[in-house]
Amino acid sequence: AKASGRGTMRFFNPRMQQRISRRIHIESALREALESDQLELHLQPQVTQQGKVIGMEALLRWHDADLGQMSPGEFIPIAESSGLIIPLGEWVLQRACSLLSEWQQLPHMKDLTLAVNISPKQFRHPKFVPHILHCIRQANILPEKLELEVTESMLIDDMAGTISRMNQLRERGIRFALDDFGTGYASLSHLKLLPLYQLKIDQSFVKEITTEKNDEAIVQTIIALGGSLGLEVLAEGVETEAQMEKLKALGVNHFQGYYFGYPQPADHWLQELENTQS
Ligand code: C2E
Ligand code: CA
Ligand code: CA
Ligand code: CA
Repeated sequence: AKASGRGTMRFFNPRMQQRISRRIHIESALREALESDQLELHLQPQVTQQGKVIGMEALLRWHDADLGQMSPGEFIPIAESSGLIIPLGEWVLQRACSLLSEWQQLPHMKDLTLAVNISPKQFRHPKFVPHILHCIRQANILPEKLELEVTESMLIDDMAGTISRMNQLRERGIRFALDDFGTGYASLSHLKLLPLYQLKIDQSFVKEITTEKNDEAIVQTIIALGGSLGLEVLAEGVETEAQMEKLKALGVNHFQGYYFGYPQPADHWLQELENTQS
């Protein structure tokens, strides 16, 4: 009676209670994982029409003793809402720059780009631009090798600020890819204001590309758009040869997906590419 008298408690049914405690558990375990260096970056190759690997996307991996293998799809939003995304994002960028710096010394790796996912809150943080520039300087890498994957949702709150930060980084040579393109908010007029390098066609359009005429039409539109804005177009989530062939025929010239390689630790690719591309 006391609890319901306050007017709030009774709205929390057991299932909500469970979800909230899982969230809290994840947040504190993630903080600990970050502090004790338990996180890892896996890399997934990005390839040309000829099948040449030209870059990698960095994807966070976290295995927790209690929680098991955790999906970034679950823990990134929690990191976003708790503010943990700031130190987490800084860790990812540091790690990415140090990988690029290692690769610079290796003939079969030195030309690869490395793409890093940036969440909206991270991008809006006042220290974001200086931090990236610091990482690049400290690792002594070519800024052209670092790509930042951003999403349309970044534009919602502070369009002018977003564009200005993007320009500052673009002027230094850093490249931007617009991730999950086609699923979000960007209008065509926004698109031409952004100093982008690449559009990433969302995997939802790739999934049924061989049978769905609507998806084909969307992909065609994105390719035409990319072409007229002078942008590279990459299709993600490519799982089969048939999907790749269809996308190729439509004019996509960069690909990423399980068909070309699963996300794997950096060392895996160091060896794999030494065997196949040298
Ligand atoms: P995303 O950036 O769209 O990354 C692509 C996701 O699709 C990855 O899931 C990748 O493993 C998966 N994928 C790749 N190829 C295929 C395929 O052929 N088929 C299918 N079905 N899936 C494929 P993952 O690694 O679970 O990451 C999920 C999301 O978490 C990412 O989506 C990204 O938004 C976010 N994320 C991952 N790492 C980071 C990070 O370091 N920072 C931030 N802010 N977000 C990250
Ligand atoms: Ca690329
Ligand atoms: Ca991405
Ligand atoms: Ca994506």
